[in-house]
This record gives sequence, C-alpha cells and structure tokens, in this order.
Amino acid sequence: MNKIKYALLRFMQGRYGVDSLNNFILYTSIGIYIIDIFFVKDFYLSIVSQLMVIVVIFRMFSKNWMARQKENATFLKLTKGIRRYFVCLQKQMKDREHAYFLCPNCKQIVRVPRGKGKIELICPTCKTKFERKS
Ligand SMILES: [Zn+2]
Repeated sequence: MNKIKYALLRFMQGRYGVDSLNNFILYTSIGIYIIDIFFVKDFYLSIVSQLMVIVVIFRMFSKNWMARQKENATFLKLTKGIRRYFVCLQKQMKDREHAYFLCPNCKQIVRVPRGKGKIELICPTCKTKFERKS
C-alpha cells in the first residue's frame, strides 16, 4: 500500500495541479456535458466537453509551471471584472445598510450608505470619479 502511495507522490512531484483556470474549464465542461445529454444531444458538443476535460488533465499533470501560471494569470486578469461583480453582489446581499459599487476603472468595490440618492463616488484606489444612485 505504501509503495503505491509513494509512487503516486513521486508521479505528482513537480506537476502543476489545480488552479482557477482548471476549475473554470472543468465546471464549464461539466455544464456543457449536462446541457448536451439532457437538451441538445449534439455529438460535437459532447466532443467539446471531452476535449475540455483533456485540457484540464494536461494542465494538471504539466511540468511547465511557468506556462501554466502565465495562462492562469491571464485568465484571472480577463475575468477580474466578472469575479469582482459577484463578490460585490454577495456583499450587497448580506448588507442592506450599504450600497456596493464597482469602480469602472480598477474594479475596486466601493461601499456607501444606502438611500442617499444620486451621488458622486471617488474610488479609494485609483481616484476615478463616477456617479451612482444609492
Ligand atoms: Zn478605481
């Protein structure tokens, strides 16, 4: 039993593993797969979801850390706005006393008291001015 464990550990050593991009591709492929088997039933769509799983496996076992990290960084940069939007939405749901907005320039979350009408906001990070209705 120990032999198998060590063999597995040795195999995984220096390999890249899981990151945000891999999770995203994996969940998207599962989503596509479910949509395909229940609704679309298209052969090519099932191929697409399977290819995505292959990409995930390739990235997981890759030993080229630099390239994988670069891909992940690009992914995180491209999706920053969307991810910040959901964080903002989550904060808004928990806190009814304040209104939360995203800075249109740097995507910083800006919190203001609710019910003040139309106000001008200044982003604390990049000092961009923008108007929102609180
Ligand atoms: Zn900003």
